[in-house]
Amino acid sequence: MTTKYLFFTGGVVSSVGKGVTAAATGLLLKERGFKVAVQKLDPYINVDPGTMSPYQHGEVYVLDDGAETDLDLGHYERFIDIRLSRVSNFTTGQVYAETISKERRGDYLGGTIQVIPHITNEIKRRIGLVEKETGAEIVILEVGGTVGDIESQPFLEALRQLRNEVGRENCLFVHVTWLPTIGATGEIKTKPTQHSVAALRSIGISPNVIIARADQDVDKGLCEKIALFCDVDKDSVIPMKTADVLYEVPLLLEKLGVGDLMLTKLGLKSTRKPDMRPWKKLVEEVRKPKPTVKVALVGKYVELQDAYMSVREALKHAGLANSVEVEISWVHSADLEKDKGWDVLKKADAVLVPGGFGSRGVEGKILAARYARENNVPYLGLCLGMQVMCVEFARNVLDLEDANSSEFDRSTEHPVIDLMLDQRSITDMGGTMRLGLYPCLLQKGTKAATAYAVPRVDERHRHRFEFNNSYLEKFKEHGMVFSGLSPDGKLVEIVELANHPYMVASQFHPEFLSRPMNPHPLFVGLLKAAKEKAKK
Ligand code: GLN
Repeated sequence: MTTKYLFFTGGVVSSVGKGVTAAATGLLLKERGFKVAVQKLDPYINVDPGTMSPYQHGEVYVLDDGAETDLDLGHYERFIDIRLSRVSNFTTGQVYAETISKERRGDYLGGTIQVIPHITNEIKRRIGLVEKETGAEIVILEVGGTVGDIESQPFLEALRQLRNEVGRENCLFVHVTWLPTIGATGEIKTKPTQHSVAALRSIGISPNVIIARADQDVDKGLCEKIALFCDVDKDSVIPMKTADVLYEVPLLLEKLGVGDLMLTKLGLKSTRKPDMRPWKKLVEEVRKPKPTVKVALVGKYVELQDAYMSVREALKHAGLANSVEVEISWVHSADLEKDKGWDVLKKADAVLVPGGFGSRGVEGKILAARYARENNVPYLGLCLGMQVMCVEFARNVLDLEDANSSEFDRSTEHPVIDLMLDQRSITDMGGTMRLGLYPCLLQKGTKAATAYAVPRVDERHRHRFEFNNSYLEKFKEHGMVFSGLSPDGKLVEIVELANHPYMVASQFHPEFLSRPMNPHPLFVGLLKAAKEKAKK
């Protein structure tokens, strides 16, 4: 069958849930028997988000093949339950880098390189890779940013061209907008949506479907008004009220008839009935009153919770598996260094130290690890969270006073966390960490092995530094268990404490592989231990 394309654009403002809407739509189509692939186009000039601060960008989501991508790819993987690859996300930076390197090579000899056609051709080439690589029947493509941004214009122009090349009948433009409410009168306004559609039409794209997001119920009359002013079919304005439970979004879209509408408009017939029962059950579980466990998340980007998107979701998934409501207390690690935030930490049933880079707040994370160890509080360390657990252990159990990671103290006498040999000569920061899926063998009888219940796992990595094996024996002698190792035994992947209810940490990022229906074992283990502690 010819590949069909669903192009998602955003209007009015950002952060209205375009990524979640696209992901949930993908699920509805997959449920109807179609092979779905997804791609996100990011208009910024960075080659990838790997070098960007989480304050700028939120979480960097890592794929199996090591691609460092936008956090929306996390939504796609979690909702559609697929594993994406590098072709699923590209940026203006990549498009220009490729075009300029071709120009330097002489590929366009004699030509003047222009946005149209050279840049738009490169964009279309990259879009084509998705179908080539995945054989998808339907490609869901989300354009980052908001219509009207200067940066996204070449992307939209490329989509306009693509529509003519693949045929109008094979594409749908879905515009996700926002309907604001005037506080004084409670009136919902459609004008910003009208303007946004006008902006889209001025570059030659008329949306086929408008998903109008709002915090209120939107009545039929208002939808008809939008249809009239924006020149779309009456049945193609979808009023989408903000959901209080994220995983309800696919159910709401299904109820609004989005799955069938998309198929009809694409001229497709579904091969099976969507089975939304697992999602209904999931949402019922979320809504059920449950005992609460408090997890202190000790990080340095806690002001922006998007920086820990997958960690937050993984905690939710594991909470459902344990029938507990997870309440996250966000603790700023630098506060702990200044004697602040301890009251919150001390009330928690578990401590989670996520990944991070750079020295700000690291001492606070080390203090949090010490507190968890000394007070038998369940602890899960992710990447940097494992490294600080080892540094703390070296300092306070092995009495290696200045032990540190050489990331934070180059001249430490005891670099218990250190750069691997192959990382030492690296000067370029972009895309050069240990990235992506690596195997890990679980050591029998350990908490990690019990949690996973399989002997070997593959997990996603994103770090430069590793446990320094010259300290391995000393750590072991004092009760540190190395419960996950690379198959050659040379890299420490999971550590845990022998005499502790649950102090487990991984060098990889388990949060990227947690799914709503398939929670991650290490998170499930943490909350199981936290539930026990809360009972006491
Ligand atoms: N900064 C540490 C390293 O590079 C940890 C990275 C992380 O937590 N993702 O090894």
